[in-house]
Amino acid sequence: MKIVTIPCLQDNFAYLLICTKTQQAAVVDPSEAAPVISEIERQGVKLTTILNTHHHWDHVDGNQELEAKFPGLIIYGHASDRGRIPGQTEFLKSGDEVRFGEESGTFLHNPGHTTGAVTYVFGKTAFTGDTLFAAGCGRLFEGTPAQMHDSLNVQIGGLADDTELYFGHEYTEANLRFALSVDAGNAEIQQKLEAVSALRSAGEFTTPTTLAEERLTNPFMRCTSAEIHACVKSKEPQHNLVDEEVFRTLRELKNNY
Ligand code: ZN
Ligand code: FE
Repeated sequence: MKIVTIPCLQDNFAYLLICTKTQQAAVVDPSEAAPVISEIERQGVKLTTILNTHHHWDHVDGNQELEAKFPGLIIYGHASDRGRIPGQTEFLKSGDEVRFGEESGTFLHNPGHTTGAVTYVFGKTAFTGDTLFAAGCGRLFEGTPAQMHDSLNVQIGGLADDTELYFGHEYTEANLRFALSVDAGNAEIQQKLEAVSALRSAGEFTTPTTLAEERLTNPFMRCTSAEIHACVKSKEPQHNLVDEEVFRTLRELKNNY
């Protein structure tokens, strides 16, 4: 499978997934149709499928224009997003497969950012939408801190270390600055911030990351770290340091950073 990153809107990413045996393609989170159509034409592939990670407008707004241009598209989303994802044809529930061309994948249900958020998984490649960003995670619009903690650390965290994670927004540099503020002694964060700042200055994007890198640099996957515990205790001396509660405190600190 070949993956092409398509920057959309201000800081969104859509991804074109190409089955190299059939030249059929799927697009993850087309926030707008025009840049996706240009890339489809450049690659000379046939779009058959849309994979929506959740219902927010900045992930689904290209659906209807793409469906009008490529009639008969299969449009995947979580079963609970019925009525919220324009043109949805597939309603994912536990155990379902995700197919296009000769590729087949699975999905993880990741409530937290929204109740119907999913991560699509094709082998060692995953598309996390707004659940996991490099060095960060989405805001909790519809879920609880405990749900988001589970989605990140148990569901996505259960994938192999060398899984490549393609995320929904270019927020990496700001996320790493926040990460340093709560995990100040972390040399990996400092190093990644330098590398990411250089990439961004050169006009490059930072997607994908890997699960191994996230375990080292993403504060929301480091709820057991001594440095983060010390930071949390400095803000809330009575804190009991249960993982989900550490997560909640981190998310609140990030909201106000
Ligand atoms: Zn979103
Ligand atoms: Fe988004």
